[in-house]
Amino acid sequence: MERLLEVKDLKTSFSTKFGDVQSVRGVSFHLDKGEALGIVGESGCGKSVTMMTLMRLLADNGKVEGGEILFNGKNLTKIPEKEMQKVRGNEIGMIFQDPMTSLNPLYTIGNQLIEPLMTHKDMSKKEAKEAAIKMLEMVGIPSPESRMKQYPHEFSGGMRQRAMIAMSLICQPTMIIADEPTTALDVTIQAQILDLMKDLREKLGTAIILITHDLGVVADVCSRINVMYGGKIVETGTTEDIFYRAKHPYTWGLLNSIPNPKSEVREKLRPIEGQPPDLLKPPTGCAFAARCDYAMKVCLEKQPPEFNVGEGHKSACWLCHENAPKVESPIKRYDFSREKATDIRSEK
Ligand code: SF4
Repeated sequence: MERLLEVKDLKTSFSTKFGDVQSVRGVSFHLDKGEALGIVGESGCGKSVTMMTLMRLLADNGKVEGGEILFNGKNLTKIPEKEMQKVRGNEIGMIFQDPMTSLNPLYTIGNQLIEPLMTHKDMSKKEAKEAAIKMLEMVGIPSPESRMKQYPHEFSGGMRQRAMIAMSLICQPTMIIADEPTTALDVTIQAQILDLMKDLREKLGTAIILITHDLGVVADVCSRINVMYGGKIVETGTTEDIFYRAKHPYTWGLLNSIPNPKSEVREKLRPIEGQPPDLLKPPTGCAFAARCDYAMKVCLEKQPPEFNVGEGHKSACWLCHENAPKVESPIKRYDFSREKATDIRSEK
């Protein structure tokens, strides 16, 4: 597999009147061409800040304290802003939770798809229109030709999300970053949008980074998962590693808080008790210690290193140390595959 993205020891902070909030504290990961990676964790764990750092879209008080982002042969932390704008327009697409952050309410959907093709791809208006119609069709928008003339407010929530996916893909980027793309949608539409992303990745070969607080969302779309907590990646592995062989107590907590889609009985879900750490003053030891049922003395004193627990599977937890007490995973085998969602082309 060819490497597309390599993030090395990334550190990002935000200055506030109370001091610097260390939102991302040494994050490293990679993504291969055409691969789908999930980044999962509670809100405030640093997952969205990592992506905003990558896109160089941090708020004014944000600062990259260290690290490197290598994308398609370019160092995104170093290239001039003008070049970065081209990367954002052409090579990396973004999908947000609220489609209205990307769609302009004042322009028709058609105009919003045609314009970037004329600007970035040098297409004539006629060529751009044809490509836009094709893209709307590809993302499952019925009667694309007449939909081109409509404004975003004339679309339903699910259709708006599809239009935004069309927009993020229109310049054929090598990678898309989807930040909580389905959180605002109801369960059925959510499943359909996830199936759409999966199909598009297979058809177009676009690499995907899917950011979510819900481990259930990444199961069907991603082949690898990074679990983030307190500004760090605490566990990384294949989707099977994370669902069937998780080693980190925080990942166990996340698994306990999602319903099993195949279960016949209504299960009692267990949210993770307690609050995330204050990243103004990150703890000396493991950031999860205050909420962890297995915390030991060493957990409070020293940050756990990443332990290799399988091929490409790592967990930053002292329980993985050879001298640690043996603890059984509390997670029973979790069947995460779900039925393919039905097509929604009848949805208005
Ligand atoms: Fe719990 Fe210690 Fe592992 Fe942290 S290092 S998750 S506190 S057992």
